[in-house]
Amino acid sequence: MECPGQILPAARGVAVMLRRGQAIRIENIFGSQVVDAWALSAEDPLEYASIEHTRSWNSSIFVEKGMALISIRRRPMLTMVADSSPGRHDTQLCPCSAELYQQLNCGGPHRSCTDNFHEALGRLGVTLPFTPASLNLFMNVPIAEDGGVTRVPPVSKAGDSVTLRAEMDVTVVLSACPQDITPINGADHTPRDIGFAVLDG
Ligand SMILES: [Zn+2]
Repeated sequence: MECPGQILPAARGVAVMLRRGQAIRIENIFGSQVVDAWALSAEDPLEYASIEHTRSWNSSIFVEKGMALISIRRRPMLTMVADSSPGRHDTQLCPCSAELYQQLNCGGPHRSCTDNFHEALGRLGVTLPFTPASLNLFMNVPIAEDGGVTRVPPVSKAGDSVTLRAEMDVTVVLSACPQDITPINGADHTPRDIGFAVLDG
């Protein structure tokens, strides 16, 4: 059974609680939008999805269909059970932050994935004194042979989606990345809305 779909507005974040066996489908409505994603154990938020454990467990620097997000205690938290996009979900770059936008000379306040993460958790009464690395859904960061990385628009198309199944009771946090300086959210540098829906069983 599927709950009604919801909209995560551009540049905003949301925290969604999933019971084991439920899943969340994240739709890239316009195709060009990156979604930073995190998972925390519902029992203990200090057990969170660790991107370094995830790369090690999967022996991959990308997360693809069939791969899991792994906790800092080496337990699967979410499995990517479906992906209609061409993939390329980045695990290399950190979530954007207020400090990054200062360094990009944005001038004045600028929303960020880091702020979205903490605001969304705060609405559930959860606080963390740090920001874990994120799984950067749809984020296209090609790796050159010399190890260099570039930030280019997503290769996903409008309506592409990924589905993440909970392997334990988890809180999933999503941020529709507010980045509008680099082309990571499309060549027109415009953050856009994302769709999401919780699926039972
Ligand atoms: Zn961001």
